[in-house]
Amino acid sequence: MHERLESHFETVLARNAGEREFHQAVREVLESLGPVVDKHPEYVDQAVIERLCEPERQLIFRVPWTDDQGRVQVNRAFRVEFNSALGPYKGGLRFHPSVYLGIVKFLGFEQIFKNALTGLPIGGGKGGSDFDPKGRSDAEVMRFCQSLMTELYRHLGEYTDVPAGDIGVGEREIGYLFGQYKRITNRYESGVLTGKGLAYGGSRMRKEATGYGTVIFTEEMLAATGRSISGRRVAVSGSGNVAIYAAEKAIQLGAHVVACSDSGGYVVDEAGLDLDLLREIKEVRRGRLTEYAEARGSARHVAGASVWSESCEVALPCATQNELDAEQAAGLVGNGVIAVAEGANMPCTPEAARIFQDKGVLFGPGKAANAGGVATSALEMQQNASRDSWSAAYTEERLTRIMKGVHERCAVAADEYGQPGNYVAGANISSFLQVADAMLSHGVI
Ligand code: GLU
Repeated sequence: MHERLESHFETVLARNAGEREFHQAVREVLESLGPVVDKHPEYVDQAVIERLCEPERQLIFRVPWTDDQGRVQVNRAFRVEFNSALGPYKGGLRFHPSVYLGIVKFLGFEQIFKNALTGLPIGGGKGGSDFDPKGRSDAEVMRFCQSLMTELYRHLGEYTDVPAGDIGVGEREIGYLFGQYKRITNRYESGVLTGKGLAYGGSRMRKEATGYGTVIFTEEMLAATGRSISGRRVAVSGSGNVAIYAAEKAIQLGAHVVACSDSGGYVVDEAGLDLDLLREIKEVRRGRLTEYAEARGSARHVAGASVWSESCEVALPCATQNELDAEQAAGLVGNGVIAVAEGANMPCTPEAARIFQDKGVLFGPGKAANAGGVATSALEMQQNASRDSWSAAYTEERLTRIMKGVHERCAVAADEYGQPGNYVAGANISSFLQVADAMLSHGVI
């Protein structure tokens, strides 16, 4: 790390004790900014980097709710409004028992740069709760969402802070949250949440956007080196929204997608994943991948193991943070992987990411490769603001153009700062410059 950034990083460590994932996300960005600081010392002099690492506002609140047995349950919820230099705070809500302040801050920090890379006017924020939706009834999820929004609504607004989904938060939860916001405020403010259902202001392609965008980004990386995903063996991790639609786009582009996973293990299907079956199990039944292997003769379920022990040419980690470590990265390289793109946020450990880059594997970091989701959220906000609704074809065309733009911004910045082909450096530098310039323009705030 550049010596002028080291003391800032020390401050981040001391000020945010125990927030391991946040430290990891900050370190990754600061490690890319050395050449920027050499060229533009004003960013350090004006404390832009120090300000960027300190959220503008952090909210932590109690969410009490009653379960189906009539017992009162208490969860903790967070909203970190990290940076509004480019637009209203924008980023999802995650419901998962692992959620604590360090996770929300890592996600919020990443979101600032990801959102800048889209070229759209959105700032960075993130939120969530340690609520575990697994095994909860619809009525319990509804009561939890209503209680959460009863506190959160006062901090939101289409020009202030616009949440969406993330792990554990999909169309069902967004619907309950929107209903409660509308009821409390007496305002039909469509643009206050994204990821809404199509019936009430949602955008076509939002559900598909993160996964589709990850594969469009992968195809751009491959095309830049004269290759394509067509005909290649692909593995994805996870089996949620991002994984399913990454698989769908890869299949559309002629790839052979053979594996995906959930928290119980993974499936390999040499005949190629049957996405209709996967959707039925995961989206409709909210079931387990063991059911996939039971229903399909060509598939094999491997319990308790990582999908990254399978060989593939293109790896798309779409599950969660730090799911792919150095040992698995070395294994993938040994098995001939040529491209890795992060559909999830920070799924590769820093050591794994370094191995891919050192071995000449194309590596698309999450803040670039998975930006299609939040970009389509911004398109949803555009449609809401103009009281319009776009066709799937037009929305996908916009998404594709945005992802090509993200790739271009990363590639140009990497070239300009002497690291051609390094998408980590390119993503961090390009997005930092945009946010930092806006912050400088706004003065000391
Ligand atoms: N949670 C998604 C992300 O990590 C989407 C956020 C949004 O649409 O606001 O980017």
